[in-house]
Amino acid sequence: METIFTQAEELLQRYYGYQSFRPGQARVIKSILQGCDTLAIMPTGAGKSICFQIPALLFDGVTLVVSPLIALMKDQVDTLTNLEIPASFINSSLSAGEVERRIEKTAAGAYKILYVAPERLAAPTFLEMVKELKVAFLAIDEAHCVSQWGHDFRPSYRRIAAFVSKLARRPVVAAFTATATDQVQTDILRLLALNDPNVYVTGFDRSNLYFSVYRRVKKEDFLFSYLAQNANESGIIYAATRKEVDKIYTFLQEKGFAVGRYHAGLREKERKAAQERFLNDDFQIMVATNAFGMGIDKSNIRYVIHYNLPKNMEAYYQEAGRAGRDGEPSACILLFSPQDIIIQKYLIEQTVYAPARKKNELEKLQTMVDYVHTNQCLRRFILAYFDEDDLPENCGHCRNCDGQWITVDLTEEAEKIFSCIVRMRGAYGINLIAQVLKGSSSKKIKGLGFDHLSTYGIMQEKTLDEIKDLINQLIAEDYLEVTGGQYPVVKLRPKALAVLKGPTQVWGKREKIEPALAEKDPLFEELRRLRKTIAEQEKVPPYIIFNDATLREMARKKPTTKEELLTVKGVGGKKLEKYGAVFLAVIRGEEPES
Ligand code: ADP
Ligand code: ZN
Repeated sequence: METIFTQAEELLQRYYGYQSFRPGQARVIKSILQGCDTLAIMPTGAGKSICFQIPALLFDGVTLVVSPLIALMKDQVDTLTNLEIPASFINSSLSAGEVERRIEKTAAGAYKILYVAPERLAAPTFLEMVKELKVAFLAIDEAHCVSQWGHDFRPSYRRIAAFVSKLARRPVVAAFTATATDQVQTDILRLLALNDPNVYVTGFDRSNLYFSVYRRVKKEDFLFSYLAQNANESGIIYAATRKEVDKIYTFLQEKGFAVGRYHAGLREKERKAAQERFLNDDFQIMVATNAFGMGIDKSNIRYVIHYNLPKNMEAYYQEAGRAGRDGEPSACILLFSPQDIIIQKYLIEQTVYAPARKKNELEKLQTMVDYVHTNQCLRRFILAYFDEDDLPENCGHCRNCDGQWITVDLTEEAEKIFSCIVRMRGAYGINLIAQVLKGSSSKKIKGLGFDHLSTYGIMQEKTLDEIKDLINQLIAEDYLEVTGGQYPVVKLRPKALAVLKGPTQVWGKREKIEPALAEKDPLFEELRRLRKTIAEQEKVPPYIIFNDATLREMARKKPTTKEELLTVKGVGGKKLEKYGAVFLAVIRGEEPES
């Protein structure tokens, strides 16, 4: 075992230029190399691909990788080809003749890794052809697609087990996913018929991601100044609806930014072109709905801004997690306005019918509202949601932990809100409570006689949004709770009763302004230009040549010899041969040959 694992480490250095496996990777690779079926649950960016690519190189025979996305497949094969790992793919974009030719080449030993779309596995002709191959290992990427409870169910994943059983010799089977819920995990184990598998769950913490939430900013102003400060960086801006995407897209274009957009309302051709150009660094800013991003492997995304509140934490962490896959510092920013809750509720109304599911979705949405209003560590909040709770109180690396906050005394406001809820008999939602405190003269309030309450209008100097924000903060801090599904009601919790009895104080926070992401480094910019030129010549996305982390390290270490260059993370022997000379030339300050 040790020797084969040492070989795996050598391959990692030679092909990928990384010194060692991450702990989460090492145990998965060991398990696979021992011939055990394996389920690996690893968050985005943890390095799943290497977990099946390296064993594939060591196994005698070919490895099939089942992957749901045609676009992603070509990308991965390009990456591998660039590393000089022989790989190919089979999906519906190829003619029958081409498929046959690729299988024949695989049988002749030309490829170690063959990516296949799940639909293929059901085709009898494909099975016939595969029987000619010595399949040593089957890797199932995005394995949650087998489950109806996952977020992208693909019925053809259900055929994988039958396919495996028809092979002459059963290969080692390993499944990979970033979705960790129990339901999904159970489905994967059962429906993929894994054989006595080892299951590994890697921690969900992504230490290079900086989380922040802004509730009281003008979103357009924020966006403009943030993008102006980070003009050279790649980023995604997610919005809740197509209309909102179009609006932001137009706004940014008018401000002179090079942007692209992506949503389901655009023609396929337009969407595809936008995606491709974004991957190729032709423009840096992508504005999109959540239709964008599944299977996008671009590793140098420096920020993900949510312009609207996402519908739940699973969606948020997945989308935000597209930032910083290369391990470099990256930002995950959420911009919130109360209107966002209304949009999300509307979307739930429109798409979820079963009452139990609707209630569930609304509860998940409430968790997002709590996230936005909490005063505590944002990272801790997220990870606690995913059942990881052995974290320090203060991560030091999110806006709630290290922002420059002013602590403010909210006791008086809290008391007003609590007593108003008591007088309204704890039977109403946020909007009505806020209206009473504001002293709104709506018909409904008069009809209920709330204009006669002693708390009517006692916060009239504040705006409705400010009052709602305060109530939401008190919910997030467990002074209040929201119960009921479709018509949520705000109620007092024991903490609030303690405040009413007094003397207990309630503290809140006030905010400051965000600094720029990274210092501009002229050498890094030059290396980036060189990478772009090579990428265009080789017709691959730039990050396939070297990722940003590698370029930054080059710019920092300024290696002068090939030996020194080899110590940079991401530079292996293969890449050194191919690109070493030109990158060294730029680092030494010589003009690269064109
Ligand atoms: P996932 O599929 O889990 O989201 P990827 O396979 O795309 O993650 O890997 C994420 C990033 O981490 C890639 O840029 C990859 O090159 C890098 N990476 C993977 N393994 C290592 C390692 N052992 N050391 C350093 N970087 C690594
Ligand atoms: Zn924190």
